[in-house]
Amino acid sequence: MTQITISEVGPRDGLQSVETILSTEGKLAWIEAEYGAGVREIEVGSFVSPKLLPQMADTAAVVKGALRHKDLVIAVLVPNLRGCEAALEASAHKISIPLSLSETHSIKNVRRDHAQMLEEIAACQALVDQVPEADRPDFEVGLSTAFGCTIEGAVEESFVIDMAERVLGLGVAQVGLSDTTGMGNPAQLERLVTGIWQRCGEPHLTGVHLHNTRGQGLANALRAVELGITTLDSSLGGLGGCPFAPGASGNIVTEDLVFMLESMGYNTGIDLEALLSVRQDVAKLLPEEEWFGFTAAAGLPKHFGDVPLQEAS
Ligand code: ZN
Repeated sequence: MTQITISEVGPRDGLQSVETILSTEGKLAWIEAEYGAGVREIEVGSFVSPKLLPQMADTAAVVKGALRHKDLVIAVLVPNLRGCEAALEASAHKISIPLSLSETHSIKNVRRDHAQMLEEIAACQALVDQVPEADRPDFEVGLSTAFGCTIEGAVEESFVIDMAERVLGLGVAQVGLSDTTGMGNPAQLERLVTGIWQRCGEPHLTGVHLHNTRGQGLANALRAVELGITTLDSSLGGLGGCPFAPGASGNIVTEDLVFMLESMGYNTGIDLEALLSVRQDVAKLLPEEEWFGFTAAAGLPKHFGDVPLQEAS
């Protein structure tokens, strides 16, 4: 059975996009509950300036609390070298740094152009390399706004592939593709994934980060897993929404993604019934926020969990 890793990003991508500041205890309760439902990779926060994102001010404490589970991969986002230092200090297992392919977006978001970002990435990689191999976290560059930018519009596909190659040329082992703005479609996703694979080799791109802003999230996720992508980011209840499109979901909804994959015969290791009850509990912690997803509203069909009619290849 093909194994797919679902990386829950709600405590980071979701929480950083909403007004509510969830307490450290609340975040740890969320992480604990998802772990109980079988989730084994969670992006728990980001090491950014607390002035910019007060929601993320307690990330070090959240990582520390989550470390009690030995088989949980604790991922964090960092915008720069300083964040990377903090992530290493906290002993996170996986560190991602976003590189916005739209230079205007990059300058606006992290006040760095592409040349400066590539320098920062090289410095982070050098720092990560100093950690003894047994304890060294995975370091990944997320190619954000890869499917289009709210400011610049279209992002050239050949440029996405060129930048993936440049990043990997710095000694980085992994790049990820991020549809930050929810503009992607399955054909575009296929061109970008296969383009990077052909130029750089398949092992260097194994994960995608998709948003459901225009309802294409699951279609894109399906194309990704059929191509052979093995890690998908998603967020419980699609938390986060989209600041530019009221009523639109944020990341793809973890519950709906698990439903699709498990029904098809992929193995996510997640107990969907348990996950749906996690959703109810976490929703109570965030009563002001909007929750998305169809599976929670409709419930599981009676035959869900029976042996799938056909195993996914
Ligand atoms: Zn995102």
